[in-house]
Amino acid sequence: MPQYDYDLFVIGAGSGGVRAARVAAGYGAKVAIAEESRVGGTCVIRGCVPKKLLSYAAHFHEDFEDARNYGWTVGEATFDWATLIANKDKEIDRLNGIYKKLLAGSKVELLESRAVIVDPHTVEVGGKRVTAKNLLIAVGGWPERPQIPGIEHSITSNEAFHLQSLPKEIIVVGGGYIAVEFAGIFNGLGAKVTELYRGEQILRGFDDEVRHFLAAEMAKKGIAIRTHADVARIDKSGARLNVTLKDGAVLACDAIMYATGRRPKTDGLGLAEVGVTLKESGAIAVDAASQTAVPSIHAIGDCTDRVNLTPVAIREGHAYADSVFGSRSWAVDHKTIASAVFSHPPVGVVGLSEAAARGEGRALDIYKADFKPLKHTISGRDERTLMKLVVDRQSQVVLGAHMVGIDAPEIIQAIAIAVKMGATKQQFDAAVAVHPTAAEEFVTLRTPVAAG
Ligand code: FAD
Repeated sequence: MPQYDYDLFVIGAGSGGVRAARVAAGYGAKVAIAEESRVGGTCVIRGCVPKKLLSYAAHFHEDFEDARNYGWTVGEATFDWATLIANKDKEIDRLNGIYKKLLAGSKVELLESRAVIVDPHTVEVGGKRVTAKNLLIAVGGWPERPQIPGIEHSITSNEAFHLQSLPKEIIVVGGGYIAVEFAGIFNGLGAKVTELYRGEQILRGFDDEVRHFLAAEMAKKGIAIRTHADVARIDKSGARLNVTLKDGAVLACDAIMYATGRRPKTDGLGLAEVGVTLKESGAIAVDAASQTAVPSIHAIGDCTDRVNLTPVAIREGHAYADSVFGSRSWAVDHKTIASAVFSHPPVGVVGLSEAAARGEGRALDIYKADFKPLKHTISGRDERTLMKLVVDRQSQVVLGAHMVGIDAPEIIQAIAIAVKMGATKQQFDAAVAVHPTAAEEFVTLRTPVAAG
């Protein structure tokens, strides 16, 4: 008789949990996975994928306008929110089905229920207790809102994907990438958007020039960004909302969306009770091998609050399964991970910002290009592109690459290979340009704009 029901029990069928379950099962482990909502997790159901689909939809607005100077006559364009949401939901259903098939094909048993931990080898799921040699926590995160009066009138990104209609006027609260992306989406679809952020500038943690450049581009597109703005209360007035700021200003809108942070979904999971260390943020403390303070329990993805991105959760899940059930033990390198903001225009970054590199006490050469992309010479749109390289003066290693502009996420993915490999500026220069592209600027930046 085996000592346990399963070799591995995974809690959470999102990006990380699904990958870990499938890889472990591939090594012959008997695996079960519990999911309390929908298989696919945040990224597929209420994150990256639906967000990017909405972002595509929002871009058409400008495409129709830009087409005119290229000789096209476009009839009156109208937008139907219900069609977009229905088609987006269809695609999410399709992906949800694929994820379920992948689990079944890997012989992972799916339990569509909430699971909680009872002891280091036991979970309670769907009214019964099951045991496993190993438990993997991959429960992700959940939007967090401040407890101010009237907060119940607000929505988060979760609800934004299911609004009955497109608000005419919306306030987006927050300065992180989710807030910035939704501001661009709602604006592109035709809503009047105000983004409120209580700090100095949006996208804290990104390169300062990227932050200011993007804020200026967003403003040109009609998004009103108010920094140093903190909401005191929200009052409902008929179908409208009155949003009172701490400085006394009152803004009216049809909807207010909070994107002010996410909290690991670890409350009530039984973790602390069995000896797993939780941080104040609710994040699970883990070592480089994703092991918690309890040897049989590991945790991956957003619930550990390391780098909260889908490819990172997937990689952590893969490393865990290889290390515990396969013959290959490895740990994820969390340094120099490229990321994108699907704002309008989008952002792509990899490596250190100028301020972070200077903070390490390095002398730097900064290379920069700020130009009107070729497409907009004829379209007439006043949109610019920024590209920036942060180079270590002594070694000439490219420490960071930053871009705001058309295709930045696609371009930065390729640049990330070179930066991760530790390429020098001279090695960037040795790559012959692909012309005419915007990306070629990354290999043709000749003169540093600042040295220090
Ligand atoms: P999740 O994918 O969140 O999965 C956790 C799963 O666990 C969920 O399905 C949940 O229902 C389930 N669960 C929780 N508790 C229990 C329980 N007790 N029992 C059973 N099941 C449980 N990342 C990117 O890389 N690129 C992007 O463009 C991007 N855009 C985003 C946009 C938005 C609006 C949001 C919110 C996130 C975005 N992210 C993006 C982040 C990305 O979605 C997460 O980093 C990723 O999903 C984390 O994966 P995970 O496996 O840790 O958790």
